[in-house]
Amino acid sequence: ASTQPTGTAAEFWATAHRHLIRYARNDFTPAIIERAAGSHVFDSDGRAILDFTSGQMSALLGHSHPAIVESVRHSAGTLDHLFSWMLSRPVVDLAAALAGTLPPPLGKVMLLSTGGESNEAAIRMAKLYTGGHEIVAFDRSYHGVTHASSAATYGVSRAGYGPVAPGNIVVPTPNPYRPLFRRDGRHDWRAELDHAFAMVDRQSVGSLAAFIAEPILSTGGVIDLPPGYLAALKGKCADRGMLLILDEAQTGLCRTGDWYAFQRDGVVPDLLTLSKTLGAGLPLSAVITSDEIEARCHERGFYFGTTHVSDPLPAAVGRTVVDVLARGGFDATARRLGDRLHRGLLDLRTRHDRIGDVRGRGLLQGIEFVTDRESKDPANDFGAAVTDACFGLGLHLNIVQFPGSSSILRLAPPLTITDAELDRGLDILDQALTTVTGRPG
Ligand code: PMP
Repeated sequence: ASTQPTGTAAEFWATAHRHLIRYARNDFTPAIIERAAGSHVFDSDGRAILDFTSGQMSALLGHSHPAIVESVRHSAGTLDHLFSWMLSRPVVDLAAALAGTLPPPLGKVMLLSTGGESNEAAIRMAKLYTGGHEIVAFDRSYHGVTHASSAATYGVSRAGYGPVAPGNIVVPTPNPYRPLFRRDGRHDWRAELDHAFAMVDRQSVGSLAAFIAEPILSTGGVIDLPPGYLAALKGKCADRGMLLILDEAQTGLCRTGDWYAFQRDGVVPDLLTLSKTLGAGLPLSAVITSDEIEARCHERGFYFGTTHVSDPLPAAVGRTVVDVLARGGFDATARRLGDRLHRGLLDLRTRHDRIGDVRGRGLLQGIEFVTDRESKDPANDFGAAVTDACFGLGLHLNIVQFPGSSSILRLAPPLTITDAELDRGLDILDQALTTVTGRPG
């Protein structure tokens, strides 16, 4: 057996193509990444690439943050992994620290590994608590690839895997840029919400358990639920005895300028899930709920014992993340830098008429390209060309991978980014837009 590391780039790619399972339709990014630090990743040619994906949202504090490196080093050398029912201080300390960042009654925490898993657990709890089984989600949702999480995910193709568990109900995403309902020329999201719940009531067999949503649909195209929508949604859920699960995998922990995106609306979910950002790159997720929901689920035999539940090493890292965010006042930082990024994007919009919309909160911003601002027809090829051009110039941006949505870019740099790095990213985007706009055809 060969255990030789790959040598030249040609050998690397040949070996990658020979041995890796491709887990998405899109190709791997055409660079070998050797190292990452702060707001940059570095490829095998030593090229620095600004990371406006935050390592696809997980490197909230940038890459190789010294406090995280130290936390991993310390835990790996003292307390790494335990039998699932054994408790350690990092787990209890992180649970208490998270509860300290949240409004009551959110005070009970379970620590898992991935986002999909945390939503799987939250959905199970909602089913046990309510005795129902029906789960409602938006049509641009992304909640993971596990069984129940993928059943509540409509943003990627469901084709080819056989039946989805019965009882999954889909409703339209309220999209302020592309409203389904208007009144006096404005987005009438109340009418849209009424319509969504008329659909729910018509499809339900009387067994509603939960509505699962992101406060800002991130993978779905950086679609911010209109102010007031979440409160009205929670009311509709309560009327029907359903729970509200908010998935803050991408929006939680200061990214949007608040500790949690739901805080803008003054709404408290019944169940909250966190992942990606919580582990600063390590697999760590959390389900958080109230005493009442936890107690009833426990009475009814709730089980979610995974190999990595309550693992000390990622928990210690999560605790460091919460500490660094709190001490550094990163909610305010995300608000300030987010305003700078948003203003920069609006400025680009004045000069590049393919930019139809600029939206987002804090350091989670999106731009949507259109062929024409009047018709708002999506400019899909343009979006893909712009991200390619940006990558060539040293900026990595996420393109929304939804079917028919490659006209939307997500900009989500680490919260530790400097003003100068942010401005450089905007300059590169400006240059890429000029180059691609000027291209014939
Ligand atoms: N929820 C949201 C909102 C996500 O963006 C993602 C990942 N893109 C997930 C859940 C799934 O997380 P994971 O990939 O860690 O299972």
